[in-house]
Amino acid sequence: MLSKDDIVKSVPQKGFLGHPKGLSTLFFTEFWERFSYYGMRAILIFFMYYELNEGGLGLDRGTANSIMALYGSLVYMSGIIGGWVADRLLGTRKTIFYGGILIMIGHILLALPGGVEMLFTSMAFIIIGTGLLKPNVSSIVGDIYADGDYRRDAGFSIFYTGINAGSFLAPLIVGTIGQTYSFHLGFGIAAVGMFFGLVIFKLTEKKYLGIAGTQVNNPLQPEERKKTVMMALGGTVVIALAAYALHTQGLLTVNTFGLVVTTLGILIPTMFFIVMYRSEKTTKDEKSRVLAYIPLFISAVIFWAIQEQGATILATYANDRTNLNFLGITLKSSWFQSLNPLFIITLAPMFAMLWVKWGEKQPSTPRKFAYALFFAGLSFIIMMIPSSLSGGTTLVSPMWLVVSFLLVVIGELLLSPVGLSATTQLAPKAFAAQTMSLWFLTSAAAQAINAQLAKVYEVVSEFLYFGIIGGIAIAFGIIILIISPIVSKAMRGVK
Ligand code: GLU
Ligand code: ASP
Repeated sequence: MLSKDDIVKSVPQKGFLGHPKGLSTLFFTEFWERFSYYGMRAILIFFMYYELNEGGLGLDRGTANSIMALYGSLVYMSGIIGGWVADRLLGTRKTIFYGGILIMIGHILLALPGGVEMLFTSMAFIIIGTGLLKPNVSSIVGDIYADGDYRRDAGFSIFYTGINAGSFLAPLIVGTIGQTYSFHLGFGIAAVGMFFGLVIFKLTEKKYLGIAGTQVNNPLQPEERKKTVMMALGGTVVIALAAYALHTQGLLTVNTFGLVVTTLGILIPTMFFIVMYRSEKTTKDEKSRVLAYIPLFISAVIFWAIQEQGATILATYANDRTNLNFLGITLKSSWFQSLNPLFIITLAPMFAMLWVKWGEKQPSTPRKFAYALFFAGLSFIIMMIPSSLSGGTTLVSPMWLVVSFLLVVIGELLLSPVGLSATTQLAPKAFAAQTMSLWFLTSAAAQAINAQLAKVYEVVSEFLYFGIIGGIAIAFGIIILIISPIVSKAMRGVK
């Protein structure tokens, strides 16, 4: 068994912005992975609902938005598989590499001319691939710093900037090419992006990451192997049979599939909580922390539900309802996807400075979550204005969306950086290997809910839609604010 010390010693501790050299490997791998993911998503929505003669698949908008959300939900749900594979079978590094390969294949499939079947096959590759890659690449970031290394938090911030730099560039490149020439060419560029990520990872991992991420922490024992294979096979057979039965009844539709995913999106975290709470390995203090984590988890779900609609509902709003002629240039609707990461990159340093300046006086984690919900809610409330002024018909100024994205980002900067660290500290020790997956389940649950909301958006007025959802977020924020002292106390010493 390698000790933490051995791992840290094997990583050159300087060489990338004053941080361990390994951070550059992780930074650029994740930069390119996110470039491919968000580039693909920036055009996927339009590929699905543009008419056939515009190079699209001609799906209706509600279905396209639902599929986007289901896809996003499964991408984050599969992090559970990625965490398990790394922990018990392959170790983090190999898991990342195989994940990247699957992601690249997924994008290549979309680059080929093909219909809905090709789309779903590509999604399967990217869902599994991202599940293998994303949580593991983040978890090595934590491994390359010694315990108590003061650079660790800054390291995560740099990594987070890498994520958003990739997400910023992608819509501008993949989006422009996809919407100007062909969607397939755009998906091809996403595949090339993932390829770059893999090359960088392979070329630098040995030198920069030393032995970090090479160890299988909790290897599957021979006697467990048979049981695991049987369970995996059994599960696959049951799913295949159920799908077949639904298919013969003509019930295997996006709708039924959506209901299953939405149910799973809510059920899986619920089970996680029950298992963590009831486990014999969970101490009394840890039980209290699990309970404290529940309202935070729900807040994060509501927050991500709004944030993720930036890539679905608001992407279609940019396309259908916004005047894209702006100051003499014709905007591409995919470009709006660069706003969120652009604001993240520009505002993150200000927030970091603010927290340093406030020091001990900064708001507690539950309070930050509550404020995040206020901003997310406001980002939707603000969209009621153009929706009412335009009567739902004339085109509105792109500035409304700019303001809306800005508001969400303020929330994101309050919630996202503290969210993962709160999860790490609040989850019982015995579940440490699953904490990254647990945090990603907030996004999975959010998008599982969004798959249903996408249908609602098609039947109510925009005004009502933005108003009700924005209102719910704000109302929940108020509740969290009121109970925040109780939550903080139940966190038993965790800040
Ligand atoms: N946008 C961030 C990323 O892609 C946050 C993901 C999330 O937790 O939903 O890494
Ligand atoms: N802000 C998101 C994340 O941190 C990126 C995006 O939504 O484009 O990766």
